[in-house]
Amino acid sequence: MITTVKPLGSTILERIGNTPLIRIDGVTAHLGDAASGIQILGKAEWANPGGSVKDRAASSIVTDALKRGLIGSARGSNPAKGLLDATSGNTGIAYAMLGAALGFPVTLCMPSNVSPERKKYLAAYGANIVWTSPADGSDGAIRKARELAAAEPDRYFYADQYSNDENWRAHYRTTANEIWQQTDGQITHFVAGLGTSGTFMGTTRRLRELNPAIRCISMQPDSAFNGLEGLKHMATAIVPRIYDSALADANIDMDTEVAYRIARTLGRNHGLLVGISAAGAVAAAVQVAEQEARAGREAIIVTILPDSAEKYMSDRFWQEQD
Ligand code: PMP
Repeated sequence: MITTVKPLGSTILERIGNTPLIRIDGVTAHLGDAASGIQILGKAEWANPGGSVKDRAASSIVTDALKRGLIGSARGSNPAKGLLDATSGNTGIAYAMLGAALGFPVTLCMPSNVSPERKKYLAAYGANIVWTSPADGSDGAIRKARELAAAEPDRYFYADQYSNDENWRAHYRTTANEIWQQTDGQITHFVAGLGTSGTFMGTTRRLRELNPAIRCISMQPDSAFNGLEGLKHMATAIVPRIYDSALADANIDMDTEVAYRIARTLGRNHGLLVGISAAGAVAAAVQVAEQEARAGREAIIVTILPDSAEKYMSDRFWQEQD
């Protein structure tokens, strides 16, 4: 008799999303009683299997490309058509993980000064890396990916996370609805950093449908020369096609040193070791809390913590005393 074994556990893909919402108490203590009606909550995106928020966008992009036959496995003498993109880190790690899990080659263009931790993750997942000059930043990596895609269109599917609508749609379909459910629909403010802008665009669009009164605030580095890894200073970058600046109710320009200081505080006083863009997002959420407290309003402010401190532990700012 043939019996069908019911598969137990879950696949890597099924583990993406449904991340915890963590209460960050105490960062508004300086506001005293005025902050008693204010809560800051952070979505712990490091709980995704690839360790960052970018698992969501990458899995959406990959699932869509597989469905449309744009990437495929090797057949006979035909090599597999692989995925190509420019990424400074987390999206690359997510693509590399998915390529390894689902069986397609992954080629990534990135500046050679990305952190040693990131290089090790990508090598461990077996991705091919094309290094570009650190002087050209992430824009140099984008130009290289475009060049390779144009030269060998049959070899590569150019995923182009900066222009691919599946990037923001991932957050429209998942992140926003999770936040809505986890706050019982009580969220009043949403704060997120801008890299490709996928997280901010997709989450904002869906939250506004659920409740148009929710205020959505973007955060970006205050200059092109910043330490907020993963984020872009839109005024000086190649602006992502998916970015629409009109969507934000307000934008906060974040000073790197302020983000470093909050990163240390979250570690030392809250037991939360988060990445630098996450620390910048919390710092922006605190600014929103200050405004609301001054106006005498209550607020439930949700922000995104894109990754943990794990890949930034060799940075020197952790050692400074405040
Ligand atoms: N923080 C980190 C650490 C990231 O890697 C990224 C992605 N570049 C972001 C924030 C920004 O996310 P998004 O691309 O969705 O704007």
